[in-house]
Amino acid sequence: MSTHLHQMPRRVYPLRVLGMGLGGVVTAVVLQSRDASLAAWLGVLLPAFVWPHVAYWIAVRSADPYRAEIRNLLVDSAITGAWVPLMHYGLLPSVLLCTLTMVDKITTGIKGLWARSVPGMLGAGLVTGLITGAPVVLESSLTVVIACMPVLMLHTLSVSVVSYRLIRKVSRQNQELEVLRRIDAVTGLYDRAHWEAQAQEALRRHVSTGAPASLLMLDIDQFKMVNDSRGHTTGDEVIRVVAAVVRDCLRAGDCAGRYGGDEFAVVLPGASGEEAAQLATRIREKVEHSRFRDFADLRVTSSIGVAALDSRHATLLDWLNSADAALYEAKATGRNRVVTAK
Ligand code: GH3
Ligand code: MG
Repeated sequence: MSTHLHQMPRRVYPLRVLGMGLGGVVTAVVLQSRDASLAAWLGVLLPAFVWPHVAYWIAVRSADPYRAEIRNLLVDSAITGAWVPLMHYGLLPSVLLCTLTMVDKITTGIKGLWARSVPGMLGAGLVTGLITGAPVVLESSLTVVIACMPVLMLHTLSVSVVSYRLIRKVSRQNQELEVLRRIDAVTGLYDRAHWEAQAQEALRRHVSTGAPASLLMLDIDQFKMVNDSRGHTTGDEVIRVVAAVVRDCLRAGDCAGRYGGDEFAVVLPGASGEEAAQLATRIREKVEHSRFRDFADLRVTSSIGVAALDSRHATLLDWLNSADAALYEAKATGRNRVVTAK
């Protein structure tokens, strides 16, 4: 954050050169059509073409460039206010420049900065009005209208580009957050809502196109014994290692999730029962051969139920029950096995 704040004068510098310069051109065009004094000319040209460089110099030399830049932004507003009487209160250029300087305060994202700029803007306008005793000439010539166009267009477009980038960034970050939110912190696998949605989608595709899909249900064998004999932190480590094995065995498009406790579910879109059983066997073998850094003698095995989608599965629950029944059979017939639902 602090490096970001330190960059503020650098970011503002080119924008101020452009904004004050183009604003100054508008004001100068108005002055040129009137019988303006030397003081009025200096009041326009110095702020328009010298001030932006002075402001940058002040900000980068300051011990606190961020605060210095905020003061500079408030000075910008006061300058714009002072220009209004110099332009004889011409409605179009006055409203345009005051609005744009207000927009500049708002787009800093600093809360209430625009409100803090109002007294300086009004005060500078009032004082300049009293000193110059400028008459009120609301209408503008075509030349002044034309002079307003560059600042109007460039300012509006640059603000749009900045907010476009911001919108894109926010929506990208929201998508990343959404994915992160769906990941179980311990295992790095998807949470139940996400993998169930993936399974539901595979089921829907199977019904409409006949595309195959399979489901694995994996449960760690005798996991309670690991917890009881070596403690829960070791148990957690075992869950993490098994989850990593599962993740490593997947292809793109597969979706592994934590079903809860020591149980995992894997959705395999496009996989037939045989393909799914092969993958399950690979997972089972890798789990069996996993070793743990702090517990060289610890051995872990897993049981896996496999269920390929078929016409008997009308709902996700039917499909899950098939895989669960196969898992139960793997447990009942000795564990460390893969059983495919019939
Ligand atoms: P089986 O071979 O029949 O699966 O036997 P098991 O001991 O693994 O039995 P079961 O799967 O029913 O036991 C799961 C245990 O896992 C129960 C619970 O105390 C424990 N457990 C659930 N979630 C966690 C966790 O996040 N960390 C740890 N350390 N233990 C957990
Ligand atoms: Mg278990």
